[in-house]
Amino acid sequence: MAGSEAAWQIVNAGIPVIIHEMRGKVETFAHQTTDLAEMVCSNSFRSDDDESNAVGLLHWEMRAANSLIMEMGDAHALPAGSALAVDRDAFSAAVTKRLTNHPLVTIERDEITQIPSDEWGQTIIATGPLTSQSLAASILDQTDQASLAFFDAIAPIVYADSIDMSKAWMQSRYDKGDTEEERTAYLNCPMDKETYEAFIDALLASEKTEFKDWEKDTPYFDGCLPIEVMAERGRETLRFGPMKPVGLTNPHQPDVKAYAVVQLRRDNALGTLFNIVGFQTKMKYAEQARVLSMIPGLENAKFARLGGIHRNTFINSPTLLDDQMRLKSRPNIRFAGQITGVEGYVESAAMGLLAGRLAVAEAMGKPMQSPQNTTAMGALITHITGGADAKTFQPMNVNFGLFPPVDNVKGGRRNRATRYKEYTDRAKTDWTAWLQS
Ligand SMILES: Cc1cc2nc3c(=O)[nH]c(=O)nc-3n(C[C@H](O)[C@H](O)[C@H](O)COP(=O)(O)OP(=O)(O)OC[C@H]3O[C@@H](n4cnc5c(N)ncnc54)[C@H](O)[C@@H]3O)c2cc1C
Repeated sequence: MAGSEAAWQIVNAGIPVIIHEMRGKVETFAHQTTDLAEMVCSNSFRSDDDESNAVGLLHWEMRAANSLIMEMGDAHALPAGSALAVDRDAFSAAVTKRLTNHPLVTIERDEITQIPSDEWGQTIIATGPLTSQSLAASILDQTDQASLAFFDAIAPIVYADSIDMSKAWMQSRYDKGDTEEERTAYLNCPMDKETYEAFIDALLASEKTEFKDWEKDTPYFDGCLPIEVMAERGRETLRFGPMKPVGLTNPHQPDVKAYAVVQLRRDNALGTLFNIVGFQTKMKYAEQARVLSMIPGLENAKFARLGGIHRNTFINSPTLLDDQMRLKSRPNIRFAGQITGVEGYVESAAMGLLAGRLAVAEAMGKPMQSPQNTTAMGALITHITGGADAKTFQPMNVNFGLFPPVDNVKGGRRNRATRYKEYTDRAKTDWTAWLQS
């Protein structure tokens, strides 16, 4: 996805590209064909609503930038209501044909086993969630152990403005921290015994997603066990783990000691998103929304993303990449796609589009600023290259929580349609200006 889009953007600027694709010689667990831009699982690019949905807005921005992935997605669309679903085989065959036939594109079927040397000139690594082992080892070698993950462990992320602060409060355990900001870094949701027991029952009974056969070989890391697995080990395990109630005083009921506390931590610099600490889970999405709404304060929580655990290769972009998506230690190497810590076909292709354009600008001696975080593209790149907390960095879908709030627009559920329209109008203006620059 990302590699195809990056290549397209570059050749459109008149610069030749060599695509190295290993399939045909080396296979992955998930791909079935040797075509470029293969959709490995669902055939959906999700919502196509560019007025009130962040991924729909990303479609709009990509179309405005002459995206190959969007052009072929549109050309091979299937009826799917407000979503964009595509005929996957026709789609990837068309992307492959367009690139194969382009005079400036060379496709080499080979596995790249090391981060290429500087002699290659500008290089974009877009090898995705199933990056081959040898290349992953080379990335590890040139970065460090903590900077590459082989599994994601995604805790659900909640929009801050959907949390009921008449029940929750901000406080770090034992008020630890040198500044007021550090002493109030966590958002706490208290549970009494009855609520805790009901929560554990619901967690144990909930429907879970099974690991795929090829995922089963990768064991859980101790530090990121799914909450339901912890609960299976004993009803009290969570109360002594991520839900321990110690070092906290509930200002709404100072005399009542909570039986358990769920903690949320800021997930972005803007403070619009909070992740539920230690709550990575394999519960099915509908089940997560139902079970997590039992947490006091989260009854009406709106999720920017739900939790999951998958086989996935991604780098710690906030540490490793600059705001141009370049490896700080090797600026001729850019990363793009899912390996940068975005998630989804569209987000991956979008980061390919951006990497391609930034590389072109640099090659032409006219480097560009990345787009502003008021655009969907800019919100994603800002998040992965700096907005996200490097210590807890996990893959992210595009969502309005990554955008700076629009001035003078009311929050809350009832005003959502107007608010999202303001976000998307602002994004379209700013994206158009960026493209023209
Ligand atoms: C099993 C699975 C299911 C998924 N399902 C969905 C879904 O339903 N919806 C969704 O939106 N997203 C899904 N994703 C997530 C993700 O959005 C897609 O994987 C998307 O294709 C990522 O785009 P990409 O360009 O980063 O990587 P890819 O599209 O995977 O492209 C990377 C390419 O690099 C090649 N490659 C890898 N290593 C090397 C090497 N060393 N040398 C040369 N070539 C190499 C690979 O063969 C591949 O063609 C899924 C991911 C996985 C693993």
